[in-house]
Amino acid sequence: MARLVIDAGKCVGCGLCVPACPYAALELEEKGRGNVPRVLEGCTFCGACVEVCKFDAIRIEEEEKEAVDLDAYRGVWVFGEQRHGLIQPVVRELVGKGRELADCRRTYLAVVVLGHGMENEIAPLARLGVERVYYVDHPTLATYSSEPYSKVLAHLIRLYRPEIVLAGATTVGRSFLSRVAVEIHTGLTADCTGLEISQEGLLLQTRPAFGGNIMATIVTPRHRPQMATVRHKVMPEAAPGEERPMEVIRVEVAEELLSGRTRILEFVEEVEETVNLAEADVIVSGGRGMGGPENFKILYELAKVLGGAVGASRAAVDAGWMPYSHQVGQTGKTVQPKLYIACGISGAVQHLVGMQSSGTIVAINKDPAAPIFEVADYGLVGDLFEIVPRLTEALKRR
Ligand code: FAD
Repeated sequence: MARLVIDAGKCVGCGLCVPACPYAALELEEKGRGNVPRVLEGCTFCGACVEVCKFDAIRIEEEEKEAVDLDAYRGVWVFGEQRHGLIQPVVRELVGKGRELADCRRTYLAVVVLGHGMENEIAPLARLGVERVYYVDHPTLATYSSEPYSKVLAHLIRLYRPEIVLAGATTVGRSFLSRVAVEIHTGLTADCTGLEISQEGLLLQTRPAFGGNIMATIVTPRHRPQMATVRHKVMPEAAPGEERPMEVIRVEVAEELLSGRTRILEFVEEVEETVNLAEADVIVSGGRGMGGPENFKILYELAKVLGGAVGASRAAVDAGWMPYSHQVGQTGKTVQPKLYIACGISGAVQHLVGMQSSGTIVAINKDPAAPIFEVADYGLVGDLFEIVPRLTEALKRR
């Protein structure tokens, strides 16, 4: 517990702290020859009064907490996110990184699977370097629901004490891992793009911060586990190798952990016209150079011939030419297709961070000095309205 302490020797009774409190939890009372603030019920120890006090007269005192025994925590866990009973591709990316981290820490790598009837999906993990699977098999867990998922994962963490827990920074991972972190009182870094182990053995969790202007590296020195969600398509997938011995630990959990306040009535799949952007092997993207929404038609034609999806720069999205779900870049999706064709995109750094790890990059731009050519494997300098239809025709003929 914390408590707010007002140092009567320093307080001059100016009253600045009273209006600064967003919870109306301070009032001035007359004491002796002047006024002194009094703490009322409702103080959340937010620190607003501490910041506003010009006389250093207010401080928050935290009760000494029992230190966490860091050595009691071993193992790297990856949350085995599944959808309709299929383990999602982001899990293979996390397993690749997780293996590296586990080797560095000389510990085991485990995948946690919450679902129902998933034995066939679990078995192939043995070829990806996974040594353990913690499997909770229950019909309630077949479809994601934040309450039971977070209660069950928190329970497993308390039981087995992993030192690192990773999940994809997907809608599911981001929404429930934060609940787990709160429940078990540890830190969580969301949306990481890099993970390493420091010389001291801590997990270095790197993510863009302040609108992408800096890369911040965050550590969790005093609590366990160290938890992070990781952006999809930033890390390479684990390549299947020889099958290694893998222990599947089936965990039974109490019914109360499976209860929640929400009930899934129906699962309505959003029907996408083309391939999902994050999963596409080929992406044809358009930027401001497309000139208007109607011109994206030529990109859809090219994408169709190549069996790919259509992406967009933020300029095109902000102009209302394409929906946000198509945006590639720092504030959009990170993609890693085999082939990325950028049409009328200048190559601003915020766009590049979302696509520069693509296999082959082709840029079509009429400005030979456009920065996109610096990351492109093939550059076509010219008018995209001439080049793209000709490319589509040539590919159709083949
Ligand atoms: P422009 O920079 O205007 O480039 C248009 C290009 O089209 C030019 O190079 C021009 O030569 C070319 N062109 C024009 N006509 C033709 C033609 N007929 N044929 C061939 N070429 C032609 N941007 C993103 O894309 N994704 C993000 O997630 C993102 N996040 C951001 C986050 C922050 C915090 C900030 C500050 C910015 C972000 N941006 C993002 C915006 C980014 O900085 C750029 O403004 C944006 O990427 C520019 O988009 P563009 O390349 O389409 O447009």
